[in-house]
Amino acid sequence: MSDSRKSSFQIYRAPWVIPVASRVLSDGAVVVDSQNIVAVGVYSEIANEFPDSPVIVCPGVLLPALVNAHIHLELSIYGEVCPPENCYSMCSWIRALLRVRECSDLTMTGILKAAQRMVQKQYESGVGLMLDIGNTIIGNFDSSPVEIHFLYEMLGSTQVATERAIKFMAELPVVQSVTAHAPYSTSPKLLEAIKNRCSQNGQLFSLHLAESIDEVLLLTRGEGCFPEFLRDRTGSNSNFPIPGIDSTAVVGYLKNLGLVNAQSIFVHCVHLNDKEIEIIAESGSHVCLCPGSNRFLSVGKVRLQAMLDQGLLPALGTDSITSNPEVDLWQEMALLKKEHPRVSSEVIFSMATMGGARSMGREEVYGSLEVGKTARFLHVQDEAYDTVHSPEELLDCLVRKGHPDSVKWL
Ligand SMILES: [Zn+2]
Repeated sequence: MSDSRKSSFQIYRAPWVIPVASRVLSDGAVVVDSQNIVAVGVYSEIANEFPDSPVIVCPGVLLPALVNAHIHLELSIYGEVCPPENCYSMCSWIRALLRVRECSDLTMTGILKAAQRMVQKQYESGVGLMLDIGNTIIGNFDSSPVEIHFLYEMLGSTQVATERAIKFMAELPVVQSVTAHAPYSTSPKLLEAIKNRCSQNGQLFSLHLAESIDEVLLLTRGEGCFPEFLRDRTGSNSNFPIPGIDSTAVVGYLKNLGLVNAQSIFVHCVHLNDKEIEIIAESGSHVCLCPGSNRFLSVGKVRLQAMLDQGLLPALGTDSITSNPEVDLWQEMALLKKEHPRVSSEVIFSMATMGGARSMGREEVYGSLEVGKTARFLHVQDEAYDTVHSPEELLDCLVRKGHPDSVKWL
């Protein structure tokens, strides 16, 4: 590399650099050109290698952008729905959400503006990449500061709804990615059709899975609150329990439908058995956890250690404001740490960065500070980070006390 080219680079130097893919650096530096990271290392070595490049000193910590792997931007206008004290089951929360959506006379402009405000809030909190799921195409976010991948979500449990959805999907432009809502709301035929379309077009597939015990009871035994809910909603009895279900449970059913592979993200995953976790891990599929939403809806805690033991690195998502008033990935990290104190903060931070980037197939650009990845990354500053003495302390401090106000974009 020529010296003149090197002199056009910019060096960011900080007391701490968290590359994620390698060990935390004390007095580290990141070198960038106009678009990408060119080098990462301890400052003394970087200064030797790039003696003519200008240096910006950043008190605090340099780290990669966060990845929010599950949100519903179209719901940003509503605020929280049915606080837990008024909702005694998952079905009553879904009923409340549907009532709010169906009875509101909101304009598309209002929905879009609320979504744009949410994108801005996510950006200011350090989110650089996001997976958005919605039942309506509310607008174009191409000029957004956050890279947003939007999946149009479809559902239909009856034969009529399935045929209607398949016809609608065939009329959508190929570039519009589609996905399915959940196994309980989407017939096996529609699940297969959606996944086939995703595979043909090289697009991601995302599915809410095992969010509540009621969902598992429906799918495995035909019990819980969902049979009545689905009867009320569709006018016909549900087709569950899944015929011939065995120890592989719901994930086994999804695998038989061809849904479980490296381009699939299963969201929530609160109630999975060991065999189901093993199938997901072996297939290269991804998991996205939403601890804030799970807490709001009182659906339980995920089996995080069991997932890590199988080699999974889950992604993190906020879900929408209707089930998570905070919509803040820092809060998701802090809550996960509180619920799983024995899981290291390093792993939890990796989930919010590398886990998300991998799940979306964007790890070549996001997820870590490495050569070739984006030069858009974060500088966080807070007096709490000034007094830490080790990488472990630093990561613990970030995960437990990190907050959007401390974030600046570089
Ligand atoms: Zn969701």
